[in-house]
Amino acid sequence: MFTLEVNNLDLAYSKNVVVKNVSLSLHQGEMLAIIGPNGSGKTTLLKSILGIKAIHKGSILINGLTPKKAIQQFKGDIAYLPQHHNVNLLLPLTVYDVVAQIYSSSKMGFVLKDEEIEIVENALIRVNLLDKKNEFFTSLSGGQRQRALLALAIARKPKLLFLDEPTSALDVSSIDQIYKILAELKQENVGIMIISHDISSIVSASDKIGILMNEMKYLGSPSQISEDLIHQTFGAHIKIIPNDPNCKECKNHLAIPS
Ligand code: ADP
Repeated sequence: MFTLEVNNLDLAYSKNVVVKNVSLSLHQGEMLAIIGPNGSGKTTLLKSILGIKAIHKGSILINGLTPKKAIQQFKGDIAYLPQHHNVNLLLPLTVYDVVAQIYSSSKMGFVLKDEEIEIVENALIRVNLLDKKNEFFTSLSGGQRQRALLALAIARKPKLLFLDEPTSALDVSSIDQIYKILAELKQENVGIMIISHDISSIVSASDKIGILMNEMKYLGSPSQISEDLIHQTFGAHIKIIPNDPNCKECKNHLAIPS
């Protein structure tokens, strides 16, 4: 069982502490969303979990190892999905090529074995992009690009998956598709951590919500978050509406911009 444990973590740029005393855990089969406004420390927290940002105080352990050691040792088990608009491809890669990157290591012109082709194509089927496999990644819409990157992460068959604003600048139908795929991955025992400043879909999709405003203001079930806290975090223009009780996929409540 893969587990992330963050204990009393402080993160700083020079002496400026931007993440203070954060503790959280993530297990396989769980979806944790860290939400908070811009500048609240979400990206810095994610970078430290991925071993890119040094720890100022406290600890981060993935299966008992520091992030750098864990990522070295468990390579494919820990996957990261960047924001699609931060991915600048210099080469004109097709959608298929993008997912096939998991087998490229550093060599160019590699040929995949049959079982590797099957893994790539299955990942494309999962994100509903098989029919676009020969199109250039750069010709896709934002939602399709994000799904192609999700296919790349899925092909690695991760145990823990970290996502940076996966629904940023996507339309409602693309957002729904991404959360549907994430819900399936969760069912398959993948532990998922999402950071986002967009709270509309994430609150109802997640098991645990962390509200980060440099310190963790709340960590727990989405159903227990008070409207006051949502307003303190995101402003008074957000309202909480109950979910449709007949909707089998909906849970608890939903926060939406009013
Ligand atoms: P979020 O992802 O929630 O928008 P960030 O983690 O990017 O927040 O930023 C948290 C704080 O750290 C902000 O005040 C930001 O200005 C600061 N910060 C982020 N990156 C750097 C950096 N490379 N150098 C100095 N300060 C930074």
